[in-house]
Amino acid sequence: MYIKTEAIVLREVEYNDADKLLDILSKDRGLLTVTARGVRRASSPLKSACQLLTLSEFTLKEYRGRLSVQEAQSIEQFRPLRDDIELLALGSYFAQATGAVAQEDAPNPELISLLCNALYALGNLRRPRELVKAAFELRLACLAGFSPDLTACAVCGSPEPDRFDLSQGALSCADCRKGETGIRLPLSPGMLTAMRYIAWCEPKRLFSFSLDPESLSALSSLTEAYLMTQLEHSFYTLDFYKSLLYYGETT
Ligand SMILES: [Zn+2]
Repeated sequence: MYIKTEAIVLREVEYNDADKLLDILSKDRGLLTVTARGVRRASSPLKSACQLLTLSEFTLKEYRGRLSVQEAQSIEQFRPLRDDIELLALGSYFAQATGAVAQEDAPNPELISLLCNALYALGNLRRPRELVKAAFELRLACLAGFSPDLTACAVCGSPEPDRFDLSQGALSCADCRKGETGIRLPLSPGMLTAMRYIAWCEPKRLFSFSLDPESLSALSSLTEAYLMTQLEHSFYTLDFYKSLLYYGETT
């Protein structure tokens, strides 16, 4: 049986002499694991369409419960990411985080479009990295069912609280909830406005906000900590991205 589907490559693992095992996120079938035979040979017609972070039209063959790539044509390769190791590393983290949220046999068009829009904003539109990262992480948490309550302080109802509780996904004021032990991070008014924008805006407008660099950096740390707390997951691709930044700063 043959299946045609549009999907993006989230993960690739080399095996045998010339093959790859791919995790792909399909628009209409959710997360799939497929084999791509001979794809590591220079002459393989599947080569470019089966690369990590490429959106492609796949023709898959199903045989005894296993899927293999018969044909593939790339639709979007997000080329600017491939010329910049830091952008590629950040994009790989987006892909790994998307894979952690995606499910087999559960199509989630919003998830695939969040990933593609984030990769496009990062590479083609050159939006600030920490802005794209923060918006992607918070929106991914929302899509995974962990939408934070960003309306007001959960204790006194103040509309401008200055703390965010990572495990509760809720706002509070510095003086509210004293004595409780959950991790709360400080939140400036600009960060709170940006979080509300990210959580509530139209998907197409997700990366169209601005914030000063200092607040953006704090927001990116907060959204990262929130996503990992909620998913109970850490990401080696994120560690790699951070190691590149550290290396860049110290040389
Ligand atoms: Zn309060």
